[in-house]
Amino acid sequence: ATPSEEKDLVIIGGGVAGYVAAIKAGQEGLKVACIEKRGSLGGTCLNVGCIPSKSLLNNSHLYHQIMHDTKNRGIEVNDVKLNLAQMMKAKETSVGGLTKGIEFLFKKNNVEYIKGTGAFADEHTINVNLTEGGETSVRGKNILIATGSEATPFPGLTIDEKKVITSTGAIALTEVPKKMVVIGGGIIGLEMASVWSRLGSEVTVVEFLGQIGGPGMDTDISKNIQKTLGKQGLKFKLNTKVVKGDDSGEGVKLDVEAAKGGKAETLEADVCLVAIGRRPYTAGLGFEKIGLETDNRGRLVIDQEYRTKIPHIRVIGDCTFGPMLAHKAEEEAVAAVEYITKNYGHVNYGAIPSVMYTHPEVAWVGQNEAELKEAGVNYKVGSFPFSANSRAKTNLDSEGLVKFLADAETDRILGVHIVGPNAGEMIAEGTLALEYGASTEDIGRTSHAHPTLAEAFKEAAMATYGKAIHY
Ligand code: FAD
Ligand code: NAD
Repeated sequence: ATPSEEKDLVIIGGGVAGYVAAIKAGQEGLKVACIEKRGSLGGTCLNVGCIPSKSLLNNSHLYHQIMHDTKNRGIEVNDVKLNLAQMMKAKETSVGGLTKGIEFLFKKNNVEYIKGTGAFADEHTINVNLTEGGETSVRGKNILIATGSEATPFPGLTIDEKKVITSTGAIALTEVPKKMVVIGGGIIGLEMASVWSRLGSEVTVVEFLGQIGGPGMDTDISKNIQKTLGKQGLKFKLNTKVVKGDDSGEGVKLDVEAAKGGKAETLEADVCLVAIGRRPYTAGLGFEKIGLETDNRGRLVIDQEYRTKIPHIRVIGDCTFGPMLAHKAEEEAVAAVEYITKNYGHVNYGAIPSVMYTHPEVAWVGQNEAELKEAGVNYKVGSFPFSANSRAKTNLDSEGLVKFLADAETDRILGVHIVGPNAGEMIAEGTLALEYGASTEDIGRTSHAHPTLAEAFKEAAMATYGKAIHY
């Protein structure tokens, strides 16, 4: 494809949604261009989200384990020091390798990568303010908006990414803060609180609701992980709202009080992480020129084929409906391109897993107990603790459990909820089971290798339709 010709597809945004759609479109033989303003591909996920946070989570866990969990394993370690600059460098190496990898995949699949900021000139034309200076425009038969999301700010606090930070600052601090307060006990709050607490910070998490983990996490699982994270040193203030923030001094002061009114106190910290959710990002796209509008939460409204009211303009990923997850964006990207090339596409929104990469990890797919109760579904529960699993025991890493929710009559699996070592990998089995409409008996009668953590998954399934052997 050359810049001058009309493209079959022009994509605005080179995050997971945009870059996957671009590669898929290239594979399908479409003439495709992808516009990205960041200077590197991969969006939030690769540059400042999933990937850098997992690098820090992995290495801070190793550090913490070496500091606190070696003697009983027969390993004597002396003189352990944190080299934060090197830890950040390791993170940057992973990010750099992966973002460059996407550029390679673009070339391989004949995707034109336009570096700059795109905005609608008309329904088929995107003007691009080029990063290297100057302007260009590109026309597309189809346009895909994949501009992602941004952190929701907290009123009264000014984000400087040093003292008052979002996740972007939290993956790039140059020293370990003595005290950190996290506003919001969702996934970002807990992952980042884990990193900095492991590296030596005194971290307090303030959460408005009565449980941590953000939307979707099962209450039993939330209570279980809260207890474990508490043992690791994290402090929690649940049912608590931040009334006022003051960042005018050296540190940050937060006035908090019970969510339903009541006891008030002031929390002080060197660094405050704002992690109260993310909101769609569509600023500067020039919607006024083409008559597109967002709803009251900033999301572009679409139909089941990801079309806006202008049918050749589609929207996927964080800037529209559904969970803000990279793998959800990826599924939508493939489906959206298939709608263009084949007239059909498919995403099963009922079988999208969620993972929180704390230690132990938390992972779930399908519905949780509160949702089933609310829907009036007659369900049964089966669970199995990792403390009864041989591999977890040998690894001296046996906190947590696997919990199944299945239809009381048909035994069909409705939800799987795990807190435990490697939960993020194990949930793939639950997701596949849900996708294939499996029963807990299907899982319980499937051989799982011994000794593996996955046996806890099998035994939790057995406990749902009958009895587990080892508990
Ligand atoms: P984005 O990744 O935000 O990409 C949009 C891109 O569009 C950006 O690069 C932006 O620069 C570009 N853009 C915007 N406007 C324009 C314009 N006008 N012109 C050109 N380019 C433009 N999800 C998971 O599934 N697993 C995780 O472990 C995970 N960890 C996370 C950790 C953190 C700290 C954060 C913040 C998020 C995490 N997420 C995770 C969420 C995940 O990052 C998002 O769901 C995912 O990035 C959404 O992809 P997207 O392509 O829709 O948007
Ligand atoms: P979130 O919605 O997961 O959690 C925000 C939390 O903040 C909620 O528990 C909410 O009750 C609380 N909250 C909101 N306002 C508050 C206030 N004023 N005071 C106290 N608490 C308040 O959002 P997030 O953690 O910011 O993450 C944003 C998005 O990024 C999510 O959609 C998440 O799925 C995604 N993400 C995913 C991963 C992962 O998959 N591992 C990692 C990081 C981010």
